[in-house]
Amino acid sequence: MTANPASPWEDLPIRDELRGTSPYGAPQLDVPVRLNTNENPYPLPEPLVARIAERVAEAARHLNRYPDRDAVELRTQLAHYLSRTTGHPVGPAQVWAANGSNEVLQQLLQTFGGPGRTAIGFEPSYSMHALIARGTNTGWLSGPRNEDFTIDVDAARAAIAEHRPDIVFITSPNNPTGTAVAEATVLALYEAAQAAKPSMVVVDEAYGEFSHHASLLPLLAGRRHLVVTRTMSKAFGAAGLRLGYLAADPAVVDAVQLVRLPYHLSAVTQATALAALEHTDTLLKYVEQLKTERDRLVDGLRALGLEVTDSDANFVQFGRFADSHAAWQALLHHGVLVRDNGVPGRLRVTAGTPAENDAFLAAVAAVLGDLE
Ligand code: PMP
Repeated sequence: MTANPASPWEDLPIRDELRGTSPYGAPQLDVPVRLNTNENPYPLPEPLVARIAERVAEAARHLNRYPDRDAVELRTQLAHYLSRTTGHPVGPAQVWAANGSNEVLQQLLQTFGGPGRTAIGFEPSYSMHALIARGTNTGWLSGPRNEDFTIDVDAARAAIAEHRPDIVFITSPNNPTGTAVAEATVLALYEAAQAAKPSMVVVDEAYGEFSHHASLLPLLAGRRHLVVTRTMSKAFGAAGLRLGYLAADPAVVDAVQLVRLPYHLSAVTQATALAALEHTDTLLKYVEQLKTERDRLVDGLRALGLEVTDSDANFVQFGRFADSHAAWQALLHHGVLVRDNGVPGRLRVTAGTPAENDAFLAAVAAVLGDLE
């Protein structure tokens, strides 16, 4: 959040810690090539659109009633999906779903954070972790990273031992850097967190499907304080659906019930997500194409002489620019919208369709000439 002295709510009796802040959100600009919010560029395939219409029509026949509060069918299908794609058996009692993984993260902070408690993340990382901490009155600690954006394990352990946070966030692959976290790092941080408190360790795998590496989900075995969060916004190409989920020990799922709003997941949302899960294989083929395109972006940017962070996500961090905002603006001038996440000298581009990526690479080549 940034200072915003001209807030229209200045004279309202809002909470003190919200004063002088502004809402989160990337610019939604109408330009030809939008590669700034890590969305999947492929619209859902027509057979799936038809299936959604069918399932939503069926749900509509019962909209006079509240939806299944526990979303049992959806959690069962999400558990099948996770078991099938990670090789680690997960049951519905270990899965919980909400409106986007942002809501899942908020529920975790409401349950395990709150006033007098703290959470730590290793920055630069997904800025909503800190913002949801603030929104739930949880203290925020910023942990260190190495020059290459991997987590500095020794410094992280020391920070956990010193500050004894209640929640440790590990984002893998990390946003905005694209960096995957090694299993050994998660284990080291989990052990440090258990020795210090014990605290909850949340592995945010929003981009897990795009990684060159296996999911960290099998680490759940025997670790009651570990949570893995996922989303249908990226790999399933359904950012507009708002469906995120977690896998953890069944006790964690039970604990989250204490803070979830009753009937938080609408019948329409549940029906749509179930339809999408029926088409998993087709959607995962798009993921494979996007992984190839992501690798092509990494190679293309390196061929232009740029410094590119290795990526396991559907986006790529690149630089360095003397003035990253000027570079962002210059790309926008060429009709390409990327993201300036505030990482000094760097920008982030989401992998789009082959044509969008070509347009982006051509714009970068042109901009490099302009900036010199
Ligand atoms: N985690 C990470 C790391 C993300 O980048 C995002 C979306 N940008 C989310 C969680 C939230 O995604 P959603 O709420 O759409 O599931």
